[in-house]
Amino acid sequence: CGIVGYVGPRRAREIVVDGLRRLEYRGYDSGGLAVVDDGRIEYAKKEGKLANLQSVLDAQTPSESGTGIGHTRWATHGAPNDVNAHPHLSADGRVAVVHNGIIENFATLRAELEAEGVEFASETDSEIAAHLLAREINRGSGLVSGLRAVCNRLEGAFTLVAIEAGDAGRVVAARRNSPLVVGVGDGENFVASDVAAFIEHTREAIELGQDQIVEITADEVYVTDFEGNPADYRTFHVDWDL
Ligand code: GLU
Repeated sequence: CGIVGYVGPRRAREIVVDGLRRLEYRGYDSGGLAVVDDGRIEYAKKEGKLANLQSVLDAQTPSESGTGIGHTRWATHGAPNDVNAHPHLSADGRVAVVHNGIIENFATLRAELEAEGVEFASETDSEIAAHLLAREINRGSGLVSGLRAVCNRLEGAFTLVAIEAGDAGRVVAARRNSPLVVGVGDGENFVASDVAAFIEHTREAIELGQDQIVEITADEVYVTDFEGNPADYRTFHVDWDL
């Protein structure tokens, strides 16, 4: 339902939760986030209001990481509960993924992964994206080329955002039939399902086209299509108030 990603010098945990709060008006049944910290992915997710997620976060030592992703879920596949909340991690904990939309061919892909011995934690259609991405990366792909390969296997509607434990300082996102915007800041960048998530930090935005992937670091935004070619996109200035 709602998606936020951040790379920059500030604490991603706080920026991401704050962004999710700005998307609360869309409705949701659970929330979660993940950050890259010291070669590991740290995450928290919780059914119910973001206040519930905040209580989980308050009980943890705050991560200083400046790379993170977050999600508010509106369940389509699997009950609204802690396990089905996003982010979803690969079994080895190497990647974390959040997803908006519906992956129509998830059952086929799940069967393929289960035949290879992958164990699923949740009932969602989304979790397959985490396992597929980890498989690509473990075969030698980078985060972007790995996500591109995953997108080319998926049918349906998706905004996918991912981080990798060994790749601090980078967030990748892709879209098909589901919205994705980039917030271009000064020494920090954002991805989101809606500009409301980052408008207090920057009003310079990029709207991604159909079947595009964006890679953000603190200083760079790079957009390609699902074949890996540099892609055209629309930049705009958000001049309305919230
Ligand atoms: N289909 C996914 C799920 O049920 C994502 C739902 C959403 O867009 O929030 O977990």
